[in-house]
Amino acid sequence: LVRLSGVNKWFGELHVLQDIDLSIDRGEVVVVIGPSGSGKSTLCRAINRLEPIDKGEITIDGGRLPEEGKELARLRADVGMVFQSFNLFAHKTVLENVALGPVKVRKKPKAEAEGRARELLERVGVASQADKYPAQLSGGQQQRVAIARALAMEPKVMLFDEPTSALDPEMINEVLDVMVGLAKDGMTMVVVTHEMGFARRAANRVVFMDGGRIVETAEPETFFTSPRSDRAKDFLSKIL
Ligand code: ATP
Ligand code: MG
Repeated sequence: LVRLSGVNKWFGELHVLQDIDLSIDRGEVVVVIGPSGSGKSTLCRAINRLEPIDKGEITIDGGRLPEEGKELARLRADVGMVFQSFNLFAHKTVLENVALGPVKVRKKPKAEAEGRARELLERVGVASQADKYPAQLSGGQQQRVAIARALAMEPKVMLFDEPTSALDPEMINEVLDVMVGLAKDGMTMVVVTHEMGFARRAANRVVFMDGGRIVETAEPETFFTSPRSDRAKDFLSKIL
């Protein structure tokens, strides 16, 4: 469903993505892990063209992402993204936040989009907050709204970049539980996280990045119990 081949990117002198090859099947959940600065966020941003790449190719569902224009907006809508910070529209209600994209980009009638938004808010467990503003919600609730907003676009793949790292500990699980539910429902997901519990519960594969490269790919259990590379061993000894 998602294929990166020979992807390279530089920030000036810094070779931030080096010869990345990665194929993600429909329904697969890939956890990306690695030290700070290893290129995890850049990889996510490259997948939905928030960051242009310098070399290589990225295809979503067989189609190459165009560089710009209407096509890009439509294809980008196929890739849902949830960031560390919640990025909700502060001056719109929770319901409006979730219904807005489908109305603007997918050209859905407002009533239909709002009906669907309520279903999604139900699914992530914040239906009772629909008419509040983001600032009135806890971090965990806001992040679940952000997930609902991304889902409202009916993406083919969901990217999560450290979705729980800005949350208080007691809110982490409520967000991870929603993500595990999505994974079980067959959503294709790329998740940058150091939450090993999530990787063990939901991931098909762990991809370990260091210095802009994919150093190691393995099943979660194998990766956490017996990583092959010294760099992965060293990294795990620091976070475990
Ligand atoms: P973290 O775990 O801290 O989030 P990361 O693995 O997500 O790290 P990236 O954010 O992808 O790492 O950054 C990779 C490298 O690229 C870092 O050295 C970073 O400083 C650099 N970098 C990221 N964005 C830019 C930018 N817009 N301009 C220049 N350098 C950048
Ligand atoms: Mg990052």
